[in-house]
Amino acid sequence: MVAPCIQCGTCTASCPASHAMDLSPRRIVAALRAGQRDTVLSSRSLWLCASCYACVVRCPSGIPFTDVAYALKREAARTGVDDRRGSALARAFVRVADRLGRSAETELLLRYWLSTNPLRAIAALPLAFRLWRRGRLSLFGRGIVGRQDLQRMMAALERPGSGA
Ligand code: SF4
Ligand code: SF4
Repeated sequence: MVAPCIQCGTCTASCPASHAMDLSPRRIVAALRAGQRDTVLSSRSLWLCASCYACVVRCPSGIPFTDVAYALKREAARTGVDDRRGSALARAFVRVADRLGRSAETELLLRYWLSTNPLRAIAALPLAFRLWRRGRLSLFGRGIVGRQDLQRMMAALERPGSGA
């Protein structure tokens, strides 16, 4: 999938998140081609990708970098070599979505901060209280109707041989 890369760097130049990445999209592709699997899978860059597809649209070699990044994220999480701080938000989101069928800001942020920096959660309490008093913050997310059906669908997708 990445073999036709000509290392032109257009993906990195187009990427709005590359300034914060430890490995730029171009370097990730180069490392993949060099067989540096663990370097790639443990990179925080995978979790900073905003899925904007700018790199895909502009790549002269037609490399679907965004899809490559998704596949690498799945593999990193499955094998447990992911950058834990980088993947923390995605993990928190999956837990909330699993439970409720959709996102809930308060639970999402609490889970994220508790797994990365609990002091942030404590520091945010005064603001959270003010927002809650004005009816701008819901403390408990509400689940969607039929979330058991959604959970069954997700469980079916995760079964071996499902093709997911
Ligand atoms: S834009 Fe495409 S060809 Fe150029 S470095 Fe990135 S992946 Fe390789
Ligand atoms: S899809 Fe990801 S890697 Fe590609 S340009 Fe957007 S943020 Fe950067």
